Amino acid sequence: MNESLVKYLSGLLDADGCLSFNFRKSKSHPGRYHVGLRLVLSAAHSVDRNGFVPSLPELTGMGTACQIPPNKSVTAWTVARRSHLEMLLPRIIKHMVIKAKHWNWLLAEWRQYRGQEYGKNGISEAEREILSEKVRSSRQNVGPLKPKNHPTWAWLAGYLDGDGYYTLRVQSGKTHVRVGVCAHVNDASVLEFIFQAFGGQVRHYQKKQNLKFWDRNLGSSQTSFALRFLPNLAKHSKLKRCKIDNMIRWHRQRLRDSSTVCSRKWCNKKIRSKGLCQLHYNRSMKYSVSDSLNTHNNL
Ligand SMILES: [Zn+2]
Repeated sequence: MNESLVKYLSGLLDADGCLSFNFRKSKSHPGRYHVGLRLVLSAAHSVDRNGFVPSLPELTGMGTACQIPPNKSVTAWTVARRSHLEMLLPRIIKHMVIKAKHWNWLLAEWRQYRGQEYGKNGISEAEREILSEKVRSSRQNVGPLKPKNHPTWAWLAGYLDGDGYYTLRVQSGKTHVRVGVCAHVNDASVLEFIFQAFGGQVRHYQKKQNLKFWDRNLGSSQTSFALRFLPNLAKHSKLKRCKIDNMIRWHRQRLRDSSTVCSRKWCNKKIRSKGLCQLHYNRSMKYSVSDSLNTHNNL
């Protein structure tokens, strides 16, 4: 598994992943439970049109993928084998921005419960209840293991593939182009993290008390930002690539159609002055200056 797939998955799992204890009743010791750990990532087919989640067992060499009843419109990738979790989780957690601390705690706790003291006999019902309570409080512990300065493109592509949206909509003759994401208020630090890196705004709506939103205009005034921002996400995105590509196409088409592009043949650069890009404008100035100097000398 290459590093950019790991980073992408950490973003997608920060949005849609679930890591939890899986208590199995002990066959040899009635009333006691073995503590397993299970990672689940699910995606609806309507979102995952190219079957990325179903392909994860092959891509990663880990876990299984199965369609979830009743209507089987969702596929879940599940990793529960000890050796796979030990290989996968430390790599994923390192890049996570929201769930790193909680997942790291789950991993450490799980290692302890499968050790000598509990390995054979499991835990009692009372211990199980205490553990479940600890899980609930650990979940409040949000953030990366170490402070991060800037999101990586692969992580951001994954996170936006999970909880984000890309909108390109024509309304009363105006085209609205936006990227955004929503997060639970407890996880809202992730929105500040994205805001610090890319601008836009963080919003909180009265009607949606539990959620906060980050969004950024990518409309016609933002072409140069959009054409730097979007291709980096398109490179990594597995679920929303098509929408990102549409936005990129829209911006490129606009550049070609409007007179914002240099009028010299074959040149697609943005206009700086007098219908020319910086380069062609500088050249034309040089010639006109030397022309006037020549004229001067001739006099
Ligand atoms: Zn030019």
